[in-house]
Amino acid sequence: MQDEHSSERLHKDTKAGFIAIAGNPNSGKTTAFNRYTGARQHVGNYPGITVEKKEGLAHLVTGETVTLVDLPGTYSLTAYSLEEVVARRVLAEDRPGAVIDVLNTSVLERNLYLSVQMLEMGIPIVLALNMMDEARTRGVNINVQRLEELTGLKCIPTVAKRGDGLDLALSEAVKLSEKTKGRVDPLVISYGTDLDAALTEMVPLVEKASLLTDQYPARWVAMKFLEKDKDIMTRARRVNNEVSDQLLATATRVEDHLKKTLNTYPEAVIADYRYGWISSVIKNGVLTGSSEPFERIAFSDKLDMVLTHRVGGPVILFAVLYLMYFFTIQIGQFPNDWLTAGFDWLSEFVGDHMASGPLKSLITAGVISGVGGVLGFVPLIMIMFFLIAFLEDSGYMARVAYIMDRVFRFFGLHGASIMPFIIGGGIAGGCAVPGVMATRTLRSPKERLATILTVPFMTCGAKIPVFLLFVSIFFKNHVPTVMFILTLAGWASALVVALVLRKTLIKGEPTPFVMELPPYRVPTLAGICIHTWERTWQYIKKAGTIILGISILIWAAMTFPSLPADEAKLYEDQIAQITAQAQTQGKSEDELAEMVTDINNTQETETLRHSLAGRLGIAMENVTRPAGFDWRTNIALLGGIAAKEVVISTLGTAYSLGSSEDEESLSLSERIENDKATWHTSNAVALLLFTLLYSPCFVTLAMTKQETGKWRWLFFSLFFNLALAFVVAIMANQLLTAMGLGA
Ligand code: GDP
Ligand code: MG
Repeated sequence: MQDEHSSERLHKDTKAGFIAIAGNPNSGKTTAFNRYTGARQHVGNYPGITVEKKEGLAHLVTGETVTLVDLPGTYSLTAYSLEEVVARRVLAEDRPGAVIDVLNTSVLERNLYLSVQMLEMGIPIVLALNMMDEARTRGVNINVQRLEELTGLKCIPTVAKRGDGLDLALSEAVKLSEKTKGRVDPLVISYGTDLDAALTEMVPLVEKASLLTDQYPARWVAMKFLEKDKDIMTRARRVNNEVSDQLLATATRVEDHLKKTLNTYPEAVIADYRYGWISSVIKNGVLTGSSEPFERIAFSDKLDMVLTHRVGGPVILFAVLYLMYFFTIQIGQFPNDWLTAGFDWLSEFVGDHMASGPLKSLITAGVISGVGGVLGFVPLIMIMFFLIAFLEDSGYMARVAYIMDRVFRFFGLHGASIMPFIIGGGIAGGCAVPGVMATRTLRSPKERLATILTVPFMTCGAKIPVFLLFVSIFFKNHVPTVMFILTLAGWASALVVALVLRKTLIKGEPTPFVMELPPYRVPTLAGICIHTWERTWQYIKKAGTIILGISILIWAAMTFPSLPADEAKLYEDQIAQITAQAQTQGKSEDELAEMVTDINNTQETETLRHSLAGRLGIAMENVTRPAGFDWRTNIALLGGIAAKEVVISTLGTAYSLGSSEDEESLSLSERIENDKATWHTSNAVALLLFTLLYSPCFVTLAMTKQETGKWRWLFFSLFFNLALAFVVAIMANQLLTAMGLGA
């Protein structure tokens, strides 16, 4: 992960011939330092404080001389002890060209905690795996090569007491120092959804105000605000008081949120994710034999033996995902039915109590059928969000990412692409907009681009109601299974498209990366409820604003221009004629009513076909016929580019407008089921796949432009996805029709 293209700004004061030795207390730093410097050392105090400062000269085998400093031993680089503050300041202000990080190999996991923090500061380090003799006798077996691959760091086994490996460690440090001039791209660790979101907000502020950025990476400074680090906050205040206040406000807000939802502090979460990064390295074939992690980590490790097992892990993951759908649909069915019934009743009530006319039509067909169709799915979505919040808060979601990592590499994506996919709806119910934003943690631009372009294939929360509507009509007895298959189809499409992109338009080698495995925690019920409600409220808000607006627009496009007066009169005449005939022929009231309804239905449908949207939809039929989409579906899909829920609201409006008043009490689902002439399994499946794959919604498209900086990728997303979806839909419709499931 270290490379020479570090940020230029940080280069200026670095001394290439100046190497620091860092590490936990008793890891063997002083022993190594004495071996290197012999008699050429100087012991004093750091200015103004009583922490001992040891400096000396070391000769390399090549004859060069470098200055060495023995840093105070620390476990961390927070500001709890004087030693920590001193070590941190030497690293940031005296700027050694590189650091030899001396580790006690027997307790590698704990010792790496300091290493991770130096990497986050952007300091080039070489790992001296010290006390290798002891580690071997204890049966701790380290795969050094694997450790180097995963961390990108030079790792040299040493026995400082005997001087073994020390020359090599020093010459590697000098080489690194010459190459990097004391700064590398900092390691970016994800600290989970809450903190990552806060950092995304804070980092630009830090950058804009140049808040200590001459010494520390911007993200690190922001992170110190989250940790409420006194030393950094005081110094930041001297640079820019106002921005410091803003950062502190965000930090306090997140702190309150974490306290409420997880009953913990940002510092603890950050520590968890750092250990998560280490855990992940260690578990990826670095360590065999015993190690001594902390107690909470030891428990997590035991769970992970099962949950992230090579074979067992994926099996459990599949079962978890499937069960999620199963419970969502089983439990959600009831409230969902009640709510749908409620909206139907409302529509009927308004229908009975309002005079006919455009206003009534706007309220029943445009607002209630449109927005109601989307709101009807709130209970289901809420249960799904609840289960997702549980998976996230417990730490299992990180395991999902870890397990999928191996698969991802094959498709030319990054381990870190998984989080954007999951957020985008990889575990159903996400949203592509934050998904695309979450790709910011990917450091390789090519893998990031491939991820941005494939996130929209996931089953986001807006596609779910569309899927549920048709799946519960055409696959009544297999709803969870079919929903699960659709999610898998989303993943498969994203991966295949990513693979194709990485072999054609965005070629390039993959970069190594480690997924964080933070320890499990017991989620609090309050926390899960808050997370659930936050997301559900987002969904409701969207229905009440964007979807409402689009519904009204589409209603208008479906209502105007209305049928010319002379044509409308034809239907009135027809009814008058039938009524007269019925009287002479002695037909019953019921028979008459039925005939009148038939004529009314024909008139409503003709009116809809005559409208702007109707004409557009009909014109499109010439193209969409092979996929089995009629004009109503065409309008719905066109509207769905604005937001995917609009597919539902538009069908709701279209069926509601195109029907007579006695059908007002029917739900959209019943109306589709009754429309046997239009809907078959074949074109329903085509519609499902089309909805899964076609152009991302407006907001996602805008986000794609913003995050890639290029219009080109916006248009690619719009047209490539549309073409792909169309081809897949045609194939599905034709195949199923050939199998006898079509018209
Ligand atoms: P510091 O606190 O990091 O400066 O650690 P020291 O250099 O003072 O070493 C702590 C203890 O570990 C001393 O007793 C050393 O002799 C011992 N020690 C240092 N390196 C090794 C090693 O590679 N193997 C073994 N077995 N002991 C070592
Ligand atoms: Mg010492």
